[in-house]
Amino acid sequence: MKIETKAVHAGDRKRHSAAIPVTTPIYTAASYIYEEVETLDKVFGREIPGDSYARYENPTNRALEELLSSLENGATALACSSGMTAIQFALTTALIDRRKHILAANALYGATIRMLQSIFDPLGVETTWVDICDLPAVEQAVAEHKPGCILMETVSNPLLRVGDMRRIAQLAASVNAALVVDNTFATPIMTRPLELGAHLVVHSLTKYLSGHGDVLGGAVISDPSHAESLRALSRTAGPLLGPFESYLTMRGIKTFPLRFERQCRNACHIAQWLSQQPGIARVYFPADPKHPDAEMIRKQFPENCFGAMISFELKDAAQPEVFRFMDKLKLVVRATSLGDVHTMILYPTMASHRDVSPKQRQRMGIGDNLLRLSVGIEDPGDIIADLAQAIG
Ligand SMILES: *Cc1c(COP(=O)(O)O)cnc(C)c1O
Repeated sequence: MKIETKAVHAGDRKRHSAAIPVTTPIYTAASYIYEEVETLDKVFGREIPGDSYARYENPTNRALEELLSSLENGATALACSSGMTAIQFALTTALIDRRKHILAANALYGATIRMLQSIFDPLGVETTWVDICDLPAVEQAVAEHKPGCILMETVSNPLLRVGDMRRIAQLAASVNAALVVDNTFATPIMTRPLELGAHLVVHSLTKYLSGHGDVLGGAVISDPSHAESLRALSRTAGPLLGPFESYLTMRGIKTFPLRFERQCRNACHIAQWLSQQPGIARVYFPADPKHPDAEMIRKQFPENCFGAMISFELKDAAQPEVFRFMDKLKLVVRATSLGDVHTMILYPTMASHRDVSPKQRQRMGIGDNLLRLSVGIEDPGDIIADLAQAIG
């Protein structure tokens, strides 16, 4: 079945009484009872499937998890309270029985970098940073450090670099490391990392999958070998996404393929236009034939699908000029986050990468004139008109 079909069918229409609801209701119960205590005993003992307590499972959450697992072709999924919780759980699952060393792409979401530095490092999990697009460097780091886990993003934030995931999965396997991939920017429409050899995939559901700017959520989707461990950790630590948010996310995902198709088409149009503007010094977009990872992009993504994120540099601008440009925008929403139906703009130096030191930002290629645009589903002409009047 194709993603467009899975998005509207998977997870839903479970029988809970004589009638089957066409969409999954919001189950708010914290605990469950059975006719006979013996049944509950078996559920607690996990001899039979069933609900007992909301920290373990919840029918609304479970429907979303089945849907997510279906979209990424995983063995199981965990829908949890934020993208960051998802990353923490994926890394914990990966490292629980492996060497406590992470090999991480040096271009990652700002809070992910902070999580490695301020949570994992103090707990004794060391991180080595590597340019994930430099395969010889990755190979050398894997051989030297024998990491328990490799962490990367399918499309890096905010410069939109694309590493060779299949090859990196092989390198991970060669030292029995788990490959954890943050697939938030690419979505399962562009890449399904488990099919390329990754072991655990994470998403911020807050972004493209829910897509309407009204949910905070995250997900881990697992291959068969980590499925049991992921569920067991979750039962104990209790990071589950609540039933209301699970319902909203599921509702959002039904239209995700339609939204994303439109967003990608709009993005191609806008990136092309931006590249012709004298006020723009540089555009970062995967469709660019001069993109440093053009070959990887052609190999790994569907034809004519380049995502809906664009980064660009304002010419001769520093923070004051960037603020002035952003303040002039009337339609484009100046807010953190991405993937929503409305077009949004973010200043990485101020927002996503604020807590990364200026030196490290510089090393990552994030200048003080860099902006990141998440393209929405509006009419592309209207988005361009707004950008044009703000560039001035
Ligand atoms: C937003 C984001 C996260 C964190 O997700 P939250 O839902 O905000 O916790 C992680 N990775 C990427 C690539 C993101 O864009």
